[in-house]
Amino acid sequence: LSLLPPLLLAAAGLAGLLLLYVPARDVREPPALQYGIVLDAGSSHTSVFVYKWPADKENDTGIVSQHSTCDVEGGGISSYSDDPAGAGRSLVACMDSMLQAVPRDRHADTPLYLGATAGMRLLSWRDPAATALVLEEVERTLARYPFSFRGAHILSGKDEGVFGWVTANYLLGNFIKHDWGGSWLQPRTKTLGAMDLGGASTQITFQTDSPAEDPAAVVQLQLYGQPYRVYTHSFLCYGRDQVLLRLWASAQQTHGFHPCWPRNQTVQDETLLKSVRQSPCTTAQRPSALNSSERVILEGRSDPVLCRSLVAGLFKHPPCNFSRCSFDGVFQPPLPRGFIAFSAFFHSVNFLKNTVRLPVGTLQQLTSSVDTLCRWTWEELQNRAREEKPKHLRDSCAGAMLVQHLLSVRYGYGFDEHTFSGVDFQKKVGDTAVGWALGYMLNLTNMIPADSPQLRKGLDF
Ligand code: AMP
Repeated sequence: LSLLPPLLLAAAGLAGLLLLYVPARDVREPPALQYGIVLDAGSSHTSVFVYKWPADKENDTGIVSQHSTCDVEGGGISSYSDDPAGAGRSLVACMDSMLQAVPRDRHADTPLYLGATAGMRLLSWRDPAATALVLEEVERTLARYPFSFRGAHILSGKDEGVFGWVTANYLLGNFIKHDWGGSWLQPRTKTLGAMDLGGASTQITFQTDSPAEDPAAVVQLQLYGQPYRVYTHSFLCYGRDQVLLRLWASAQQTHGFHPCWPRNQTVQDETLLKSVRQSPCTTAQRPSALNSSERVILEGRSDPVLCRSLVAGLFKHPPCNFSRCSFDGVFQPPLPRGFIAFSAFFHSVNFLKNTVRLPVGTLQQLTSSVDTLCRWTWEELQNRAREEKPKHLRDSCAGAMLVQHLLSVRYGYGFDEHTFSGVDFQKKVGDTAVGWALGYMLNLTNMIPADSPQLRKGLDF
């Protein structure tokens, strides 16, 4: 026992010596995080995205990720045209939760954006005064929060398409990569095309070398020192919800029943009727007799053949004034192989594949799986998809039929088996949702520099 203190002392001395010889290591503070908030004010609902990134790495590629999200209760802001103040109020619960999601000491330098898409584009077509009031009310609400509010704006269809493409390729590291040795690499992988199917519009965007026969359809971007020629087109009224309204109107007019709805489902839906009456997308299909006092009850039929021709009838093919067109007389250069298809493209294909377990590996399989789905009665559907929301279940056949037609050679973008095999149906890359919101923020915060990082590296380090 008496030996113990000297031994301990000796051990302590040795440890001290060892400490002296251990090479000093940097004690690094975790990098300070910076945050940004984007409200994606879509036609069917508003989602709030909080992004984060290390404050010292603003201009690195792929460094921004999703921190959290909040889904606003109720409909999109465009559904508040009769009650603009309600649009502002609808955002309060999510915005209050943002006060916790972003650390208090970062509130003041957190940029806050609201971007509205096709739902508001349609409202501004129908009622510009109500559109201005809704935007004013959401701005009034957002300006009350301690963040750095940068305004509420309506995105053009082109913005929506291009920012979705930027988001996907940024998250996939397709623009530029940082290797382990700390130098910048221009990855050899090409960029992926992006397909977005929202509630009111759908966008297709991809890099192309083809001549821009329609200059309005090609956007020139300069990202990290590289030029990108990108084709983009947004089809208004071809979003999932607007197509459902157009189908309803056309089913009512031509059949008096709904071939895409499941048999044994009889639907009397007042909100749907009101939307059909109000939407600028349904003017061509709206039955003239549909006056405001009328109640309309439509019965489902589970008829894939009639459903198919009803959906096909929505795609117009006027003479093409270019060497090639997709539909509606819109110029489209040849498709590359390699796309990411998100939002309702993902919802429909995921439902077929993972909920009702039908094959979707090829275009042929997709077509026959859609037919199978459209043949099921309401009971059969419910038995196979117990977890699905009834609203989505009722329209699952029509939604899948729309996806298949949008992709097809005959009616839509013109995917064949080869190009279809390069389509990845995804809603996220890692933990970050794919959509226009991240690309929009990256652009507005100047986080994607036009010059090359090699140049900056030489100056910065
Ligand atoms: P979003 O991706 O949320 O903008 O929605 C785009 C469209 O997909 C809208 O028509 C939504 O109603 C629809 N949608 C959202 N979730 C689902 C789902 N789980 N299944 C089918 N459609 C959906």
